[in-house]
Amino acid sequence: MSEAMSSLLFTNVTAILPDKLLPSAFVLCEKGKIQSISQRCPKVSAKTCVIDGKGKYLSPGFVDIHVHGGDGHDFMDGTVEAMRGACVAHARHGTTTIFPTTTTGSPEQIHAMLNAAKTVQGERRVENGARIAGVHLYGPFFAEDKVGCHSVEGRRSPTAKEYTAYFDSGIVKVATCAAELPGAVAFYREAKRRRCLITCGHSNASWPEMAAAFKAGMRHVDHFWCAMSNVSSVRERLGVPMRGSMMEFVLGTADMSTEVIADGCHLAPELLDFAFRMKGARRLCLVTDCNRALDLPPGRYRFGAGEDGSWFNSDGKVGWAPNGSLASSIVGMDHMVRQMKRDTSATLPEVIRMASLTPAELTGIARRTGSVEVGKQADLLLLSRDLRVKQVFIGGTEMLLPR
Ligand SMILES: [Zn+2]
Ligand SMILES: [Zn+2]
Repeated sequence: MSEAMSSLLFTNVTAILPDKLLPSAFVLCEKGKIQSISQRCPKVSAKTCVIDGKGKYLSPGFVDIHVHGGDGHDFMDGTVEAMRGACVAHARHGTTTIFPTTTTGSPEQIHAMLNAAKTVQGERRVENGARIAGVHLYGPFFAEDKVGCHSVEGRRSPTAKEYTAYFDSGIVKVATCAAELPGAVAFYREAKRRRCLITCGHSNASWPEMAAAFKAGMRHVDHFWCAMSNVSSVRERLGVPMRGSMMEFVLGTADMSTEVIADGCHLAPELLDFAFRMKGARRLCLVTDCNRALDLPPGRYRFGAGEDGSWFNSDGKVGWAPNGSLASSIVGMDHMVRQMKRDTSATLPEVIRMASLTPAELTGIARRTGSVEVGKQADLLLLSRDLRVKQVFIGGTEMLLPR
């Protein structure tokens, strides 16, 4: 990490603003915040550190609301070393704000993860990589028939005793539960009281179950098309008449948001573009859903806690569960951004929005980060013209990238 710079001026950059590109831009940062954005050079003191962007893009740092680990670490390992290691790995891929995500596991394992996240969040050091804005309580409240690559033994229905203890940690900011589970509505109500982004995932819910969940505060669905219901899967569970599923509910309800894993392995281009065209950049997030195999060679790894997580294989492109289903991604947000730009009709500002401002808005942190706007934290990236991460700034301080 380089020395904290109190004043920083980016010159000769194309700034990626929420609604447009601003070429030949000057972006001045003072005390870790964005002070001015213009096409005319502002007056600066001799002490200002000037960074010539040489025509690169100046992008907001990415915000990842669904991510399990990286560089050999899964957040469910439950140690501060794993927490720091994965956050550093994702910062190298442009993520400056992160929501470490739990999986199925014992209450002890989940509490260990929450504690490690709190400790590292409290350290507030740039060397720790992406800043932890909160934890995504994702597992264990999954439906039995939709656990995907997670262990079935580790899933269960929500009970107030269990989740109240998680919420009491104060760090849970995104909360997932399958809508059809007994106790789901009470879970959503409590999560709403705690001001979480409330999401339904790993679920075979029908439209009426989604409607009840929506009433209780649920507004988001995890990784669209993955481990979620469709008309035929709901028919298998509930018989006829055929019913609407999570898919129809999300597409038919304006206030519902969702996310896609745009690694090029989970979803074909037509699905990525369809999701974008249906929901738009303000209701669709890019997430990595990345596991510990990020930046590691192909091989066999554990998903979830190192001691008892389920095994998967990384082929260097994506993770595979032993039963042949996908076991989440192994790439960072920069990859998702490049893929989305290549595969869809979204403009560059729209693609970047889906990886930064939209997840920031949905999780209630957009006042302080998520876009290149005056007054926000200087969480910034210099990206090459082919959208590769060249330099990362967190709160106006540069993070060194070599590993
Ligand atoms: Zn999942
Ligand atoms: Zn996941």
